[in-house]
Amino acid sequence: MPDPVVVLIEDEPQIRRFLRATLTSHGYRLFEAATGADGLVEVASRQPDAVIVDLGLPDMDGLEVIQRLREWTAVPIIVLSARGQERDKVTALDAGADDYVSKPFGAGELLARIRVALRHAVGVSHEADEAAFKVGELTVHLLRRQVFVGDKEVHLTPIEFKLLTTLVRHAGKVVTHQQLLREVWGPTHTDHAHYVRVYMGHLRQKLEAEPARPRYLSTEPGVGYRLAADWGA
Ligand code: CA
Repeated sequence: MPDPVVVLIEDEPQIRRFLRATLTSHGYRLFEAATGADGLVEVASRQPDAVIVDLGLPDMDGLEVIQRLREWTAVPIIVLSARGQERDKVTALDAGADDYVSKPFGAGELLARIRVALRHAVGVSHEADEAAFKVGELTVHLLRRQVFVGDKEVHLTPIEFKLLTTLVRHAGKVVTHQQLLREVWGPTHTDHAHYVRVYMGHLRQKLEAEPARPRYLSTEPGVGYRLAADWGA
């Protein structure tokens, strides 16, 4: 398989330098753009496997870059955002970004996000055959609708199971409160944010050894939730 191609759209030279060193040493081919306009051209011409977009660009909002890419491509998009911009992250995810990394971030964190993004891009067509999802002690049998922690079966209500399988479909990626409400409860319930919090609490009680310090179902403050895809990642 050829090296995966990544387009990075970021105006800060030191972050570009850091990502260039990190990605090229891990077998990625990187193409860079310092403005949104150049970035759109790079994506169109390089046909990358993943795109990394900074939200604060000099010529246009990173959100606009995402929206314009989504008009014609389903390429995985990972957003770089400053800490504390929870509202922007949610908007970016709702606009079609797949995930985000908050600055300052470590190389390991970004590489993990890229791996998840690429895995989903490749694995989508096989997803229906994927009968079981496993991470750590947790096993979710999607077709048999059974959930195990270790060898102990856990009984979930239909809503809890639907919430869990929604997170399984996006394993390793953040899922916003709005996405969960829409996919689990339906489009008419998107203002019932507390449903997610309540049912996530139930799931943690049933699945986590220490519900207050979850290892499977982590909270992304102000944004949503993420189901671990790799143990300890
Ligand atoms: Ca910037």
